[in-house]
Amino acid sequence: MIKQCPVCNKDFEPSMPLQKYCCTKCQQWANSNHLIPPREPFEFDCRHCGKHVVTAPFGDRRTVFCSKQCEKRWWKHPRKETCGNLGMSGGMSLGSLIRRERSDLE
Ligand SMILES: [Zn+2]
Ligand SMILES: [Zn+2]
Repeated sequence: MIKQCPVCNKDFEPSMPLQKYCCTKCQQWANSNHLIPPREPFEFDCRHCGKHVVTAPFGDRRTVFCSKQCEKRWWKHPRKETCGNLGMSGGMSLGSLIRRERSDLE
């Protein structure tokens, strides 16, 4: 199947079904000029401060936290906010699980 490169308008035969551009140079050009369709905006509430966030279409990779600061603060005190959910699930630490498997093997 012949496709037309949207950057240089050259006809080319894609080597992969999803290939859009005739060559990596054209693809890089499209990347830097935002020809590639924007990512769907993604909405979430910041896990740390609860702020509602809608991501920008380009170069916005946030999925959990509204900012680096919130992410940092979250990882500093992760226990406080999660122990309610994780508290009673099994009660066995990963370490003791591994030790148990080892003794089963021996
Ligand atoms: Zn091209
Ligand atoms: Zn936040």
